[in-house]
Amino acid sequence: MRQIPMIIDCHGHYTTAPRQHEGWRNEQIEAHKAGKPPPPRPRMTDDEIRETIANGQLKVQRERGTDLTIFSPRAAGMGHHLGDARTSEAWASACNELIHRVCTLFPKNFIGVAMLPQSAGVSPKNGISEIDRCVSEYGFVGINLNPDPSGGHWQDPPLSDRYWYPVYEKMVEHDIPAMIHVSAACNPAYHTTGSHYLNGDTVGFNQLMNSSVFKDFPTIKFIIPHGGGAVPYHWGRFRGLAQDAKLGLLTDLVLRNIFFDTCVYHLPGQQLLAKVIPVDNILFASEMIGAVRGIDPETGHHYDDTKRYIDQLALSAEDKAKIFEGNARRVYGRLSRMIEQSATAD
Ligand SMILES: [Zn+2]
Repeated sequence: MRQIPMIIDCHGHYTTAPRQHEGWRNEQIEAHKAGKPPPPRPRMTDDEIRETIANGQLKVQRERGTDLTIFSPRAAGMGHHLGDARTSEAWASACNELIHRVCTLFPKNFIGVAMLPQSAGVSPKNGISEIDRCVSEYGFVGINLNPDPSGGHWQDPPLSDRYWYPVYEKMVEHDIPAMIHVSAACNPAYHTTGSHYLNGDTVGFNQLMNSSVFKDFPTIKFIIPHGGGAVPYHWGRFRGLAQDAKLGLLTDLVLRNIFFDTCVYHLPGQQLLAKVIPVDNILFASEMIGAVRGIDPETGHHYDDTKRYIDQLALSAEDKAKIFEGNARRVYGRLSRMIEQSATAD
């Protein structure tokens, strides 16, 4: 039996995939540089995949008392700045297929989210068939959308631009949200997880709030990960900017469409998030096993054991249930159906 509320972690990546998976990626990129076709994809048995999960994310779920992870390919590994549109397509397809295999082996514990085949300067239309495939064949419930496929050089138009509209149309059609998530930085000015990720979150939010996207797509939903980057901390700045630009109240402007996850790795940060952002707009997430894997000497617990912070917040049980379960079911429109399916799987 599931616990009540169910604990849904909306942000996890397959960071423990069998070694030959990323090995093939390196070979693919080397072959591309040499102007040669890529080698055939490596074999990965169900047992190998099972082992990486049983000793990885599933073990951590059990230790921390979470039930389900919304699971996507390793974010830094998306590497949209490498190769070209064709290598990105083959890599996204391989990564999403692997996520599907994990979700098939552990249907109660993992539900998939797709990475897209993106490349700087290549129309996001290129990713449409992969979205369709992942939703209809694999039962995925969302996508990760990289606002900067150049890996830290910001060469593509902002998310406010109609350039991205084909993806938005698909999101609305399938009732799937996008998590705004950059990949590895190839610009040495940025540290991938220390600054590029948080910049990506903040930039994405700012581009969307200054856009017509929510007028054009009233039901579209975005998740800003890593606690929203700098956004909750600087909520007053964004409110003031919206006011100066005569955009109205920030809450009216964005809170029907933008949601924040709880990948914030200390209690004071979580307290701020919960104080500034309405509880209806916060989704539980940890991003385990991910960027920060150590133990905080101040608490004796893993930095990314974010459930512990939520448990300590001065919120009602009803509000915590929204953060742990209800909001995820609302934002990921296809999620409840997938949960029901997995419940009747055996
Ligand atoms: Zn992530």
